Amino acid sequence: MSNQSNKTYLIKYGEIFLKGKNRYIFEDALVARITEALERVEGEFRVHKFLARIYVESDTDFDEDELLGALTKVFGITAICPTLVLEDNGFDDLKEQVVKYIKDTYEDTNFTFKMLCKRARKNYPVDSQEMNCLLGEVLLDAYPGLKVDVHNPDVLIKVEIRERVYVYSKSIPGPGGMPVGTAGNAMALLSGGLDSPVAAYMIAKRGVKIEAVYFHAPPYTSERAKEKVVDLAKKISVYTGKMKLHVINFTDIQMAIYQKCPPDELTIIMRRYMMRIAEHIAKENKCIGLITGESIGQVASQTMQSLLCTNAVCELPVYRPLIAFDKQDIVDIAEKIDTYETSVLPYEDCCTIFVAKHPVTKPILGVIEMHEHNLDDCIEEMLNKAINEREVIDI
Ligand code: ATP
Ligand code: MG
Repeated sequence: MSNQSNKTYLIKYGEIFLKGKNRYIFEDALVARITEALERVEGEFRVHKFLARIYVESDTDFDEDELLGALTKVFGITAICPTLVLEDNGFDDLKEQVVKYIKDTYEDTNFTFKMLCKRARKNYPVDSQEMNCLLGEVLLDAYPGLKVDVHNPDVLIKVEIRERVYVYSKSIPGPGGMPVGTAGNAMALLSGGLDSPVAAYMIAKRGVKIEAVYFHAPPYTSERAKEKVVDLAKKISVYTGKMKLHVINFTDIQMAIYQKCPPDELTIIMRRYMMRIAEHIAKENKCIGLITGESIGQVASQTMQSLLCTNAVCELPVYRPLIAFDKQDIVDIAEKIDTYETSVLPYEDCCTIFVAKHPVTKPILGVIEMHEHNLDDCIEEMLNKAINEREVIDI
């Protein structure tokens, strides 16, 4: 616990996306996402945009670890720099303040450094290069353990003369990506497994706002299995922001497929109905894409032939960010975003309950479509019922 007060953080973001008119959309979304993230941190914070910079400030006490914990989960941030903000009281005062800054910031003053001063305000009496030399000298005099290294310094000390004076040297990496809300909306098919939360996280990282749909099959799947999905949705919402989770009762549809279609095609046909329902809800909720955790060859329902059959029912693009990932790569991300422990809890999954011992690994689309006709007399009604009677949970 490191209690802080009266502190400013400079928020850095990837300028590469900030061309022309899109710049303010990106910045405004980032300010909004930061503001939302800070609602979870104790203390009062101001987030403001000033001359192509975003700052977070506070006059109250707060826990810096908690603040950084929240900011490092806001997509779009590339770095967070604790910054000393000074009024311009002349260059002599600045020298004193920079000496004090080093004492306050570093317990151990044995390191190499480089000054990087920038005079954004050209009427400042000392130019950038002179400032580098003069401030560097003052620090060398004040701290015998310091040495200058212009090529590979341990610490880069930045001083920026703007409307006020900003001094910073530490940079905590952000998650990168784009602020949520700068791309479209997409519907994630969220099972209780390992893959789908990671997939939703990855797409949200590109600025996409997420909704989620979960298919359960009570009484074959338990309330605890549903709670697990709610927990996973909560975990990813730390990154993605608030979301709606649509919970579909899939039991009747699953039973009908089980009774009327070949057992080895059950999973594929089931997956096709999941995609159809997800797409229907997606379109109703202004989502312009679906997201799944599929990865080529991971299981029988994810061979290329199976993916062809599943994909054939969708009009919307299906985003499959894990398509070429090995399991371990997915596990690594799940651990990083803290979904792993929840995902591996051993609750039943509606996909595995009726599953055949030997599911087809090379389904043929025409054959699957033919067998789906076995459901013609009942499926329409069941789909409508499943969609209309869904539960919607605010996460
Ligand atoms: P996961 O680890 O995400 O459960 P999986 O490896 O178990 O994936 P499948 O069961 O074949 O894979 O499902 C593939 C994808 O289909 C999942 O990643 C998910 O996006 C979606 N999906 C599967 N089952 C469900 C379900 N019950 N509810 C919502 N989506 C599901
Ligand atoms: Mg699964």
